[in-house]
Amino acid sequence: MERALYVPGPVPLPEPVRQAMLQPMLSRRSPDFSEIIIDVTKKLKDLTKTSTNSILIPASGTGAMECALQNILSPGDKVLALPCGVFGNRFAEIARRLGAIVIEENIDWGEGVDLERLPSLLRSNPSLKAILVTHNETSTGVVNPVQEIAAVIPENGPFLVVDAVSSLGAIPCYPEEWRFDALVSSSQKGLLCPPGIGLVWFSERVWDLVEKRGNSIGSYYFNLLDHREMLNLPLPTNPYTPPMSLYFALQASLDYISKESFDSWFIKKAEAAKIFVSGIQALGLEPFVEDPYFRSPAMSVVRIPNEKATSVQKDLRSFGIEIAAGMGQFKEKSVRIAHYHDGAHSETLMILSALYVSGKRNGIVVNDHFLKELQEYISM
Ligand code: PLP
Repeated sequence: MERALYVPGPVPLPEPVRQAMLQPMLSRRSPDFSEIIIDVTKKLKDLTKTSTNSILIPASGTGAMECALQNILSPGDKVLALPCGVFGNRFAEIARRLGAIVIEENIDWGEGVDLERLPSLLRSNPSLKAILVTHNETSTGVVNPVQEIAAVIPENGPFLVVDAVSSLGAIPCYPEEWRFDALVSSSQKGLLCPPGIGLVWFSERVWDLVEKRGNSIGSYYFNLLDHREMLNLPLPTNPYTPPMSLYFALQASLDYISKESFDSWFIKKAEAAKIFVSGIQALGLEPFVEDPYFRSPAMSVVRIPNEKATSVQKDLRSFGIEIAAGMGQFKEKSVRIAHYHDGAHSETLMILSALYVSGKRNGIVVNDHFLKELQEYISM
């Protein structure tokens, strides 16, 4: 049975994206493929509102995180990590394995970065090379206020490096406008593509550092200087064979997302997530993130009482709906549901109805009147 896929990546692919991947192979050094590189990088500049290119590498999100830090960090550099879930912890661990001294300021799961604490953290940790933050923490459904975080960091202060793996394409994320230094992401979530392309964008300040470091950057494949040089040629190319079918897919998915405009796509995501959370509350369940300010427009995490999350996940699978289990210590206490695709009300209603039936089966108190209440939100 083909299941309706609502895990926070990989996501169901829009038909034009699937079709795009059927294109025949080209010579990777041909002008035809250069045209595709030019088009994709231009569309990514529009999406991120940047004046310079993002570098695409053959990697998942973790590869893009490691690639960015490998280019920025030298052993002994001091880094402040602000993890609020699994992926923030991963970012800190990558920095540690690259030899950085990592100061971790752990944030309770379900909460985001406390802007009021940041100035004192910066004062008590001088000479930081970088600050690591997760834009959308996919283990908890928290979206961090990256723009506001960037505004607290002094000009020429530490580099703010942002993991936008589960936000880019679904939530606005504008590194130049918000004045942060590095963005990493990947293809299989908000960008509505299959997994396999990682994306790294650096500010001019970071590129200056990378140029100074040159070959002392420990990686050959992920030294981004070669990638940038080839991307900036009049007929751009890649230093190593790129995953060409995924470029075709990304070109189609960026067209799909921006059909009306990127802005209206973001608004649609945010509305769908809000209605979904209203439905969850109407059911009598709770969103994992208490404060609406920190709730993700890209995906929702729902608390499941009585440690029944695996059982609920199994029920939904048997109904043909694939959702994700909770993560870490909340594996049995939460489920995670994505809103990346063209989330229509029918899909929200389908998942909520499935959660209602599963709730009844699992002895979880769910509201019989949830549809009536939800109907009022949907007709708003
Ligand atoms: N960062 C975030 C916020 C994520 O959600 C994920 C994956 O879910 C990753 C990093 C790791 O990405 P990947 O699994 O593509 O390596």
